[in-house]
Amino acid sequence: MGATAALAIVGAMSIPWIQIRESMVAQQLQSMRDMSAVWAKKPDTSMERFRFVKGSNGQAAAGDAFLSSALDEFAATPANFDRYELQQTGEEPTSRYVRALRGDQADRVAAGETISLDAPDAAWQKLPLTGVFSIERSAVGVARLIWQDRIYILIGGALAWIGIIFAMRLLVVRGYLRAVRRLRDVANRVRGGDLSSRSQLRTGDELEQLGNSFNSMVATLDGSQKQLQSMNESLDFKLVQLSEANVGLFESNRLKSEFLANVSHELRTPLNSVIGFAELLAELARKDVGADPKRIRYIEHILKSGRGLLEMINELLDMAKIEAGRMELSVSNASIIDMLEGISAIMRPQADLKKIALEIHRADELPTVETDPGKLQQILYNFVSNAIKFSPEGSRVIVRTEVWAVDGAPGLRISVVDSGPGIPLDMQQTIFEKFRQVDASHTKSHGGTGLGLAICRELSAMLGAKLGVESNSKKGSSFWVEIPLEFRAKKLTPLMTDRAG
Ligand code: ADP
Repeated sequence: MGATAALAIVGAMSIPWIQIRESMVAQQLQSMRDMSAVWAKKPDTSMERFRFVKGSNGQAAAGDAFLSSALDEFAATPANFDRYELQQTGEEPTSRYVRALRGDQADRVAAGETISLDAPDAAWQKLPLTGVFSIERSAVGVARLIWQDRIYILIGGALAWIGIIFAMRLLVVRGYLRAVRRLRDVANRVRGGDLSSRSQLRTGDELEQLGNSFNSMVATLDGSQKQLQSMNESLDFKLVQLSEANVGLFESNRLKSEFLANVSHELRTPLNSVIGFAELLAELARKDVGADPKRIRYIEHILKSGRGLLEMINELLDMAKIEAGRMELSVSNASIIDMLEGISAIMRPQADLKKIALEIHRADELPTVETDPGKLQQILYNFVSNAIKFSPEGSRVIVRTEVWAVDGAPGLRISVVDSGPGIPLDMQQTIFEKFRQVDASHTKSHGGTGLGLAICRELSAMLGAKLGVESNSKKGSSFWVEIPLEFRAKKLTPLMTDRAG
């Protein structure tokens, strides 16, 4: 701002700065003319200040550049009859004046006779140039006057600059800054949460417009906040409703699990006795040589359905127990070799029915595992039972055991590999959820509840183990469980609490 004002003032000052010299020069020229008019009345060539040069070309004034250039000029342009210069070349400033002499004027001057210097007319201009006379005098006073005037201009300019700066500051500080500060105060109040605060600027310029825009922005903000507040309130209300519903759901689920646990227990007792008596009847019928073959077939139907029902009830009971957080662990040092042999013995009849070769691949020496052997066996039993269930007749099911690091700790990996239909990639996680099956038609062809793998997942989490499946659709599946050698107690929480929290 200051620089712009200074520039404007310098621009304005440059005119009088130049003009002062011009008018001084004009004044001096006039005074030289007056002096020469007086001198011409009685020309005295011996006067120091007045110099007379006879001749018509520049060489006549040898050694005096000013005179010689004036002679050249007068010869070339007869309308010019005199010339003035304020010279700065020597030690001090000098005023120099030169006047043309034409016709007999040079001789008359040389003779000391009066000559007329009236305004030279066209006839005079036509006369030949015969010489010049010049006046030279000190111009210290003139130069001083010029500089004096210029200093006044400078002082005036500086004062004007200071005045402008002061006025601008007054305008900015008193006018704009005060308005901006008021606007800032309003903005601070809004930031502090007072959305009723508004700008009251009435400056009638852009600042007032800015204040109005600010006001409408705050009004919009206020509206949005109120809307948000009411949305929040209704959200809070919905949240309360939801949590109430959740509590209800949790309670219903707990009741369901409790009911299932009780009912399953009550169901198992009579079912066990049905299966027991059916087995007895089957044995008697087989011993009876003349027995009707239909009798044996019917009894086997009863047995198959009874065992299926028992398996289903057992799974439901297990799941209900896990969900109610009532599944308990009994940890001991388990021999994996014994466990694998046990599974092989239990599952072989089922495998034989489908002519499936059940192979156990294991190292001769396997470390004991600190775990709940019953639960681990249940997981493996499920894997093997599914493998036999889904593998085609005459195929192989392999149970492989390898030493494996589980989360950096020593452990074992037991895999059950089959050559069944395999599991599509997008289902490989889903099948571990409750009641999920790859294809509902499986239920019809193979039976099952879809709970087996979900129970395995919960049990393996309780044992600190991991499980998963690798499967290539159509080429079979490999279900695996990785278990650390040392049991790491895990804080058990009922599943529902997990979900609710
Ligand atoms: P269920 O066998 O009672 O249906 P599971 O939880 O044990 O329940 O298995 C869930 C589903 O996973 C099965 O219905 C089946 O679709 C799929 N599945 C499990 N094991 C295999 C396997 N070895 N081969 C192919 N599919 C399998």
